[in-house]
Amino acid sequence: MYGIAAIGEVMIELAPAPQNLKRLAYAGDTYNTAIYLARAGVPTCYVTHLGQDSHSDAILAELSQEQVATNLIKREPKRQPGLYIIHNRPDGEREFAYWRDQSAARLLFSSSNPDPSLLDMQMIYLSGISIAIISPEARERLHTFLSQYRQRGGKVAFDSNFRPKLWPHINIAQATTEKFLRLADIALLTLEDEQALWGEHDQDTTMARLLSYSLPELVVKRGAEPALVVRDQTLSTVEVCKVTTVIDTTAAGDSFNAGYLAARYQGFTPERAVRQGARCAAAVIQHRGAIVPLTDYQTSLAA
Ligand code: ADP
Repeated sequence: MYGIAAIGEVMIELAPAPQNLKRLAYAGDTYNTAIYLARAGVPTCYVTHLGQDSHSDAILAELSQEQVATNLIKREPKRQPGLYIIHNRPDGEREFAYWRDQSAARLLFSSSNPDPSLLDMQMIYLSGISIAIISPEARERLHTFLSQYRQRGGKVAFDSNFRPKLWPHINIAQATTEKFLRLADIALLTLEDEQALWGEHDQDTTMARLLSYSLPELVVKRGAEPALVVRDQTLSTVEVCKVTTVIDTTAAGDSFNAGYLAARYQGFTPERAVRQGARCAAAVIQHRGAIVPLTDYQTSLAA
C-alpha cells in the first residue's frame, strides 16, 4: 500500500487585496492538506469532483504543479467549483460568504462508490466538511467503503472540521461526525470545533467524551497552546512552535494535519509528528492565504 488520498472539496477563494481589490486563489481544507502533504514528500492523490470550466482547469493545473495526482478527479459537465469571498470587517474580524450549494464536489459518491484503486492507498484522509457536503446516500457509500478499506489494512485519518452552516441540523452533524470519527485510525481534531459541535464548555468534558471512543490515535489541536496526543489511552502534551507574528491563521489546522500525517507516513512517533505538524502550521500562519507560495513556505520552514 502506497501514498495518501485526500477526499473533499476545493473552492474558488476571493480574498481581500490592496485598493479594495480581491485576490483569486483555490483552497479547501482537504485540498490544502493534500498540497502540504505532497510538499512534505508524500505521494498524494486528491479525490473530488470539478466542473469543465476554466477554474476547474486551473485547479487541476495547480494540483499537478504541486505533484498531487489528479487521476481520481471526476469532471461534471453541468457543475463548477464552489466560491467563497473573504471580507475584512472594520472591527478586524474576517467574514466568509459562501456559494457552494451547487458545487461539483456535492456530487461526490452520489452515483458510484469510491474508486477501487483507493484500496491500494496506505491512508485515506477526509474531514467533517467532506462528509457534510455529500448526500446521506453518498455518506453511506463512503462509510461502507472505508470500513472495507480498514479491514484490508488501510488507515483512515479524520479531522472533524465542524462548519455549522453545512449541516441541516446539529443532531445530524453530531451523529454523522461521530460515525466517521469512530472509523478513524488517526483523529486530528481541534478543541474549538469539538466544543462547538457538542456544546461543551470545558476541556475535561470534551476529553472525557473523546477518550470514551477509544480511538487508536487522537490528536487535539489547541491553537498556540500545546497539542494533546492520546495513544493507547495514554495522554501526552506536546508544545507547538512559538510564532511572534501571526499574519493569517487560515489553513493552520490543515497544514498541521499534513505535517503530522507525513511524519506518521514516514514512520515517526506521534510526538515527533506533532512537532512536524506544528512547524508546518507555523510556516503557514506567517503568510497570507491557505496555500503559501512554495519558496516562502520553504524559507519559513527552514527558519
Ligand atoms: P484550526 O486551524 O483547525 O482552527 P488550531 O487553531 O488549533 O486549528 O491550529 C492548528 C495548529 O496550528 C496548532 O496546533 C498550532 O500548531 C498551529 N497554530 C495555530 N495558531 C497558532 C499560534 N497563534 N501560534 C503558534 N501556532 C499556532
